[in-house]
Amino acid sequence: MFAQPAAGLEGTERGNEAQALLRSCVHCGFCLPACPTYRITANELDSPRGRIYLIKQLVEGAPASVTTRDHLDRCLTCRACERACPSGVEYGRLIDLGRELAEERVPRPLPQRALRWSLVQLFSRPWLFAAALRVGQASRGWLPAALGSRIPPRPAHRPAAATNRHARCVVLLEGCVQPGLAPGINAAAAQVLDRLGITVERATGEQCCGALGHHLNHRDRAMEQARRNVDACCAALDAGAEAIVSTTSACGLMVKDYGRLLAAEPEHAARAERVSFATRDLAEIIALGDIERAGLTRGTGPRIAWQAPCTLQHGQRIIGRVEALLEAAGFTLVPTWEATLCCGSAGTYSILQPELSGELRRRKVAALTSGAPDMIATANIGCLEHLRGASPVPVRHWIELLADALDRHAKRVAWR
Ligand code: SF4
Ligand code: SF4
Repeated sequence: MFAQPAAGLEGTERGNEAQALLRSCVHCGFCLPACPTYRITANELDSPRGRIYLIKQLVEGAPASVTTRDHLDRCLTCRACERACPSGVEYGRLIDLGRELAEERVPRPLPQRALRWSLVQLFSRPWLFAAALRVGQASRGWLPAALGSRIPPRPAHRPAAATNRHARCVVLLEGCVQPGLAPGINAAAAQVLDRLGITVERATGEQCCGALGHHLNHRDRAMEQARRNVDACCAALDAGAEAIVSTTSACGLMVKDYGRLLAAEPEHAARAERVSFATRDLAEIIALGDIERAGLTRGTGPRIAWQAPCTLQHGQRIIGRVEALLEAAGFTLVPTWEATLCCGSAGTYSILQPELSGELRRRKVAALTSGAPDMIATANIGCLEHLRGASPVPVRHWIELLADALDRHAKRVAWR
């Protein structure tokens, strides 16, 4: 798709990037069936190809309206279209650019800006989020049912892992909302890694990864968080950690992108690249052989429906790995359908686009429970909480299931 950037953009870094990204789209439409919003609205402007056309118009300086911005807002940034595209269009980069231009050309009314600012502040400060969550949980009984049902219950406590020293060591990122919503996930990860002979360290000075601010167009704040994380993670790598690990696939994807996002900053570019290169999803750290060496075997254990978060399967392109680990640990995976479609969580999408998000969740829960699973497993706290609100069966992080399997195995061995 040829685009001629408008006067203010022509020859600029942003204009050149937009031109190069748009050029790879050949209008074929192969991406349309992969797009969750297009599957619901059947409107071309809610499809990847339609949005790319809107972005071209923004780049060329054609008239833009609230409708333009709305169609871009409705995109989940799930990147299912990238995987379906035979021409290699980097849609994720294009939509970020398009949203930036749309915000400039069609500024949002004050209430919308205030809401988005509040979401960035609340969700990127763990202490603030945890305090707000505790207040919500304590006052749940007095809240209207519609609001109260959105507040998750207090999580079950999981004992902290032993802090044994091993030859291998990784940094486990804490995350922002996960410690408040489900502290058991990182505790389970630390426990499993300890049993597999890997020491877990924290990155002193860790911040929110910045994904939320980045996608809500609060880029300055997001990049400041990224710089501080690069400093914190580099210090940990210098101290001997072999990898930076996240149990939240959305955060892992963002950290893996620091190298590109900070490439133009001489002070941070090389170190950001180093951190991105060293970042791994938890599923990339644990090998099938580790599961076997820990004594777990295949079997006919609890029936699990696996929900692959978009940030894991489309963003990080990690496909089939968690499923293989769960099967090796004795779980039975049940078949599901529409596995490449987003569940509708997508960061703050469920708050900002409740109708579309609700419909996607309804479809996803129906697909996941079609095989009568005992529970649903996923790899991202956002998906987990979103699905939990509508699922008839428990929804858990896969590492918690693995930790439980190792616990059961340890008890069996102790009884012998
Ligand atoms: S990122 Fe997802 S929602 Fe957005 S256009 Fe691509 S497939 Fe559709
Ligand atoms: S599949 Fe790729 S090349 Fe074809 S319309 Fe979609 S984004 Fe463009």
